[in-house]
Amino acid sequence: MKGFIFKASSIFTCFIPTKLLIKLSGKKIIYPFYHIISDNPPPHIKHLYPIRSVKQFEKDLDFLQKYFTASEFDSGNNKPQFILSFDDGLSEVYDIVAPILKRRNIPAIFFVNSAFVDNKDIFKNYIFSLKQENPETDYKKYLTNKKPYLTSEQIFELINEGFKIGAHSINHPLFSEISEAEQIKQTKESIDFICKKFGEKQKLFAFPFTDDGVTDVFFNTVFENKIVDYTFGTAGIKDDIFERNIQRIPIEKYGLSAKRHIKTEYLLYIIKKLFGKHVVKR
Ligand SMILES: [Zn+2]
Repeated sequence: MKGFIFKASSIFTCFIPTKLLIKLSGKKIIYPFYHIISDNPPPHIKHLYPIRSVKQFEKDLDFLQKYFTASEFDSGNNKPQFILSFDDGLSEVYDIVAPILKRRNIPAIFFVNSAFVDNKDIFKNYIFSLKQENPETDYKKYLTNKKPYLTSEQIFELINEGFKIGAHSINHPLFSEISEAEQIKQTKESIDFICKKFGEKQKLFAFPFTDDGVTDVFFNTVFENKIVDYTFGTAGIKDDIFERNIQRIPIEKYGLSAKRHIKTEYLLYIIKKLFGKHVVKR
């Protein structure tokens, strides 16, 4: 239903200039995020969500760079800007995404799961996609042979090139389904891993799946105890009652172009704002 409303609303955005939407919304900073860019969708993701080709991604970036400046996170300036990030720490980030971003001079944050770095383990949804592709697949062999995740060496190289690394939990659970103690453990341990192993100074954490259903007790605990500096959700263009919880735009979600998706996010934000529904409450 939500998808239907989103896609139906997207039709109207053809008639509204991007600059007007930015102006009316008052939201100058946007946080689009992806997982993977590939011309050959790998079997572990193919059956989960639409995958952007290199050509589509380049087109998305053309749009973004036309209306927004590519910025580092927390850069402090106030012009229209986009802060790009990628979740799940997939090897395509190193092979395909980073070369494109370097050529265009676009910074990015790559959020990785501490249990999956170096292909030590796999996200359970990938096993589902692999079985769908071929019921005989042995995921342990797949990890060894295909190496779907970034290696530590690749991560060090990305950091040297100026990219940022953030945490995305230990092994990607849905936070609303685990206890508060486990939520804190997943957050703290994955951040410690990023800071100790890779020397990251800023403690950035992107929720696996969504921050929907995460209570204010969690946010108060992680912010007050300085377990994290900033957390990132996936609710699109929205404000959050916790200022340091930043909502990002899941560009891949409906298979629309970044232009169409982002313009629709803006339109819906403006409409929701009229009714006071633009803030994520807990
Ligand atoms: Zn994820």
